[in-house]
Amino acid sequence: MGKYRYITNRLLEGGGRIRVLVPTGSDEAEVSYTCPKCGFSEETRKPWKKPFSIRCSKCGFLIRVPSLRKEIKKK
Ligand SMILES: [Zn+2]
Repeated sequence: MGKYRYITNRLLEGGGRIRVLVPTGSDEAEVSYTCPKCGFSEETRKPWKKPFSIRCSKCGFLIRVPSLRKEIKKK
């Protein structure tokens, strides 16, 4: 068992990126992103749900995690 039950790390169209970590036994995601629209970077927390999306706290752009097919699960 790893420390996290869900991990994803995506590059976004337009140059941004998003990383989402959900600790084992938690429903709160640890999110780190760079907004593809304004370039703002932030680390924050948000309740975990699928499909996951988060709004840039600087410009309000909605950042979506596009597909969950390529998710990486830690063994
Ligand atoms: Zn932004």
